[in-house]
Amino acid sequence: MKVLLSESDLKNIVSRLAAAIAADCGGRRLLLVGLLKGCQPFLGDLCRALSSYNLPLTLDYLSAGSYVGTQSSGRVTIGDQLSAYNWPDYEVIIVDDIFDTGLTLSEVVAHLRRQGAVAVRTCVLLRKAGSTRVEFKPDYCGADIGNHFVVGYGLDFNERYRELPDIRVLSEEHYQGSK
Ligand code: 5GP
Ligand code: MG
Repeated sequence: MKVLLSESDLKNIVSRLAAAIAADCGGRRLLLVGLLKGCQPFLGDLCRALSSYNLPLTLDYLSAGSYVGTQSSGRVTIGDQLSAYNWPDYEVIIVDDIFDTGLTLSEVVAHLRRQGAVAVRTCVLLRKAGSTRVEFKPDYCGADIGNHFVVGYGLDFNERYRELPDIRVLSEEHYQGSK
């Protein structure tokens, strides 16, 4: 599989995102909500990068998904794992691996607003070209990529390849016969 973003590319991207988030935070309490399962290595590295800015940081997770194999199903399912928060105390940033149609993030933003979150922003590692279906843009985006199906650094294909340390384009021979 072709490497699209190397480990050192990812490190640079994460440092840039952390600096941008820290610059906008203004000392307020940050609650990062990672979308499982794909956010994991990204969110871990982002937190480590943010730790040098000494921000009041809280971490939580939600499961959310819309993909089946290599296609968006068009329906988003959201879990109910989040703890209870006094939402107005927090600047919430939802952290996801990749923005494709935008349905997942826009549904999760709406979900958190229904829970009472006031300040909600979104941060994605990657944004795919050409498939946005909603009037919605992530506030922080690590890198724009072409319309490929990518795996690695938390991103899976049918629960495989999340462990790869870099981002790779899934080659056709990998999905033939396994859909
Ligand atoms: P959206 O709701 O924006 O269409 O899709 C976002 C979700 O779909 C991501 O959180 C991710 O789980 C999945 N997804 C979208 N594109 C890709 C991709 O290229 N590779 C993988 N592994 N997952 C993707
Ligand atoms: Mg996801």
